[in-house]
Amino acid sequence: MPTVNAFAATSASEPLSRTTIERRDVGAKDVLIEIAYSGICHSDIHTVRGEWGDIAYPQVVGHEIVGTVTEVGSEVTLHKVGDRVGVGCMVNSCRECENCLAGEEQYCLNGNTGTYASVDRDGTITQGGYSTHIVVVEDFVLRVPESIPFDKAAPLLCAGVTTYSPLAHWKVGPGSRVAVVGMGGLGHMAVKIAHAMGAEVTVLSQSLSKQEDGLRLGADHYYATSDPETFDKLKNTFDLIVNSVSAKIDINAYLSLLRLDGTLVSVGAPPEPLPVQVFSLFGNRRSFAGSGIGSIRETQEMLDFCAEHGIAPETELVAADDINEAYERVLASDVRYRFVIDVATLA
Ligand code: NAP
Ligand code: ZN
Ligand code: ZN
Repeated sequence: MPTVNAFAATSASEPLSRTTIERRDVGAKDVLIEIAYSGICHSDIHTVRGEWGDIAYPQVVGHEIVGTVTEVGSEVTLHKVGDRVGVGCMVNSCRECENCLAGEEQYCLNGNTGTYASVDRDGTITQGGYSTHIVVVEDFVLRVPESIPFDKAAPLLCAGVTTYSPLAHWKVGPGSRVAVVGMGGLGHMAVKIAHAMGAEVTVLSQSLSKQEDGLRLGADHYYATSDPETFDKLKNTFDLIVNSVSAKIDINAYLSLLRLDGTLVSVGAPPEPLPVQVFSLFGNRRSFAGSGIGSIRETQEMLDFCAEHGIAPETELVAADDINEAYERVLASDVRYRFVIDVATLA
């Protein structure tokens, strides 16, 4: 088993630090990837801090992975040595349940195997992308189009697909009025993708401090949610609201912004419940929904869509030793708009 460098959490409260982990030997259907870049998702922070429940330590997180194939198993047909590839939030699923058979393996009824903090098929705990190499079964590995710069491609593997999936599912297109709540890693991708799909896009951010960026990234309108007038002005406006906020917000206030048959979909995953007053749903026959990552098919579709439309996230490269500082900046909503780890700094 190859031993590789990694950056791991050792408890819920201590800073992450350098370590080594073992990767499994490359199996017949496996691909060995030398990781070049790994994005920092707010989910990484929720996970290592135990906010979504207890986990086993040490834990390496990171599920926005891009790199180059350096070895393939004897039965691999989808990838070859030298290919530019990506790995997102899951590395396997049961492949037998109704949802897997429908190509929605992110909703595997037996639980998809998460890229980190998940029990793998061999019983070990999966370890994610803050590391120099990863071994993944070939059909959970994505092709990264040549036109997307490698470091920019990383955040697409989670932030990209997690926002693309609900936008595609609710058939956003020309004429759709879409609001994006929170303009961080996921939110800024939602703005870019919804704009490219032809929607009229509104950002609902805590303040106007990122307004100029929002408009440059493709938003048509930008409002501060700290201004109570925003909620009066925008009542009954949107077909789809994508909530990307990592903390608890007053979901009923946002539901009032939906027009007839509108849907508020939460991709944000705060540890606390978001209580819904049913009367908020009666008016305009509104829906409150959730959406988790996206399928492998959808992830490839999103990568190809981004290549075709020239979409890439706004990123700031950080060295491995700066991960803890980057976490603090994410928590302070001081990310513009995704931190990406230069994995060469882990070598
Ligand atoms: P992020 O970069 O930290 O962005 C979250 C944004 O939410 C912030 O930039 C901020 O935007 C806003 N925000 C933060 N705290 C707030 C508060 N107390 N009140 C109101 N707004 C606040 O995080 P991310 O990586 O985009 O992830 C966002 C959430 O999605 C996390 O909970 C993450 O775990 C979850 N997630 C879910 C999935 C899924 O499958 N559904 C996948 C990936 C991530 P403004 O400054 O513009 O207000
Ligand atoms: Zn993520
Ligand atoms: Zn399944």
